Amino acid sequence: MRIPQLSPISLISLLYAVSLYVFYRQGFITGTTFSVVAAIVVVMVVLFYAVFRFGFNTRFQEPSLMLPQLISSLLVMLVVAYLERSTQVALVPFILIAFSFGIFRLSTASLILLAMGCLVAYLGIIIARAQVEGFDFGFRADLAQWAVLALTLPGMILVGKQIQNLRQLLRATRYQLEHYEEKSVRDELTGLYNRRQLQSELQQAKLQADTHSVPFSICLIDIDKFKEINDNNGHLVGDTILKEFSRVARDSIRDTDILGRYGGDEFMQILPDTDVKGAVMHAERLRVYAHFLDFQKILAQKHISLSIGVAQYRPGEKITDLIARADTALYKAKQLGRNRVEWIDA
Ligand code: GH3
Ligand code: MG
Repeated sequence: MRIPQLSPISLISLLYAVSLYVFYRQGFITGTTFSVVAAIVVVMVVLFYAVFRFGFNTRFQEPSLMLPQLISSLLVMLVVAYLERSTQVALVPFILIAFSFGIFRLSTASLILLAMGCLVAYLGIIIARAQVEGFDFGFRADLAQWAVLALTLPGMILVGKQIQNLRQLLRATRYQLEHYEEKSVRDELTGLYNRRQLQSELQQAKLQADTHSVPFSICLIDIDKFKEINDNNGHLVGDTILKEFSRVARDSIRDTDILGRYGGDEFMQILPDTDVKGAVMHAERLRVYAHFLDFQKILAQKHISLSIGVAQYRPGEKITDLIARADTALYKAKQLGRNRVEWIDA
């Protein structure tokens, strides 16, 4: 089982606690302040770790829980900045780092709202403290630091937006690439594998057969007198028949079999793990199946018929030799009157 790692925000909070340790060691904050803050950070980290570890986060709309994580760590930093003025030096860089992680998960609207909330809270802290300590030099220094944050945060969000756009572009490009990859292996008219993909599937089947000493067979399937069908009924009817036959053939073969359009009215079925006897049986079934397809509405002769040539792969032979044998068997089927299955013995 994969153990979830600490979230980036948890790591930032821990680093913040480490930086507070430096402040403590240098005498800027008390040991009590450091211990309390470190304890709060550790509790937060353990809590979020447990939530992810036990999968409670999946119950939320945004399972990365980026917003609650960010808000809780920002709150800790702001409260510490209020209580211990000297730690304010650490505030700006840590807030920027925390936001840089938010960029990957939060919408721009959420980021802007969070940034505004953060700036208002920080300004409130500065004014509240000045009301106690006076609007002196320290107040002006705080205000300058606040201004730096107010100017850098929008820049950070802008960069975030750019990154989000790039990620979106990347996703769209990947989707397009997959789409083109899929298109490049398919025949446009029938949606079956094209001849190029059939060649590659045949090489795969050969490799499988050679390595594991298992048989495989192929069927060359040709529609009888298809030229006549075109001539008598028009090319569009011919196309419809090619499409309908492909759809039915694809649905009728086994999931493990591969069917492609070899060219024109000729199709190829690759039958893994099947010897010539088994392949002839499957071919015969497909022949009968196709013969019962009803094209009454578009075809004067109502039905189509198939001639099929079957051959089994001989270990070590070239794919072209296997295809040549299936082709010979198909030629035999045509010679013997069509609408039949012929094969060459293995
Ligand atoms: P056989 O029984 O000997 O196979 O005769 P056939 O007429 O089927 O054989 P032939 O190879 O002479 O004819 C195949 C025809 O398929 C010729 C061609 O016009 C037609 N054809 C090839 N591709 C397409 C296509 O995409 N759409 C249509 N409608 N026809 C096509
Ligand atoms: Mg034909």
